[in-house]
Amino acid sequence: MIQINGRCCMLTRSELDKFSYSRLNTFIQCPMKYFLKYVSGNYTEESKLHLELGNILHKGLEIKYRNIIEGNKQNYTYIKDVITYGIAEDTDKDKGRFLNGITQLKRIYGEESFFEAGNKSGLTYEEKLGIFFDYLEEDHDDDWQPIHVEFPFSFVFEDRVILEGFIDRIDQNKKGELTVVDYKSSDKRFDQKELATPLQMVIYALACRALFGKVPVEYMYDLILLGDRQYACTSGFLDRGVKKLHKVLDEIELCKVTGEWKPKASPLCWWCEFSGHNEDNPWYTAGLCEYYSLWSPHNKTFEKHKEYK
Ligand code: SF4
Repeated sequence: MIQINGRCCMLTRSELDKFSYSRLNTFIQCPMKYFLKYVSGNYTEESKLHLELGNILHKGLEIKYRNIIEGNKQNYTYIKDVITYGIAEDTDKDKGRFLNGITQLKRIYGEESFFEAGNKSGLTYEEKLGIFFDYLEEDHDDDWQPIHVEFPFSFVFEDRVILEGFIDRIDQNKKGELTVVDYKSSDKRFDQKELATPLQMVIYALACRALFGKVPVEYMYDLILLGDRQYACTSGFLDRGVKKLHKVLDEIELCKVTGEWKPKASPLCWWCEFSGHNEDNPWYTAGLCEYYSLWSPHNKTFEKHKEYK
């Protein structure tokens, strides 16, 4: 329901704005970044090593768990070949796009990138891939059977917006209870406070309620390069999460009305495609934001390129 000229109007589904978790998270991270990307349409083709590596490892796990769902014999040699040499995406998620394997990634980003220690874990990608390949061949917990991988969802959230995305994996036990699993290829564990009401899991819970008529009983982040798992969502998270979702959507509405999208300069600017101090940024997006933090892994400063007034 929205207000137009003081009157309430019900929008049809095709008129509602669509949001994914990553789109909402971009706004939370920095409204200016959201504006440059989703309002002004400055999309980049270029990728980064951690994103491409995450994509191909996700694909390996997707093949493993799809085999279990479809009752196919597991072929780890094939899965490892896919991860090593790449494969064309065959699901609705970027269908036809070639996902580079480790061989191509070493050529593109340099073999040495695989031997640099991660900021948080202190582990190199070579070491983390060793952990991943051991983990890949682990037997799956018999009590929880995978029922969906790369599960696409799209539903109307409280007559307000459409929420859409893909869930990495959904498992089910004999009682019909669900667990959602999200793979993370990050270098660090979540802090406990980040696990209480993670917006991503709130959206997945709402998606399961809309599509299966029940919310999951467990929410797991599978830290695939660290060989670790963390369970998220504490009691009352869904009510808190729905309020949080409305608050973010209200803030986006306000920015649209006022036309003011404030920058939130932080060390994350180093990885933002719109900052001007990272040479790896594409020429057509680098510097579109003037208010970036000058922090870099080699110069941990609080200075900014320009203050926002
Ligand atoms: S460079 Fe920093 S302040 Fe600018 S849009 Fe990106 S994240 Fe926001």
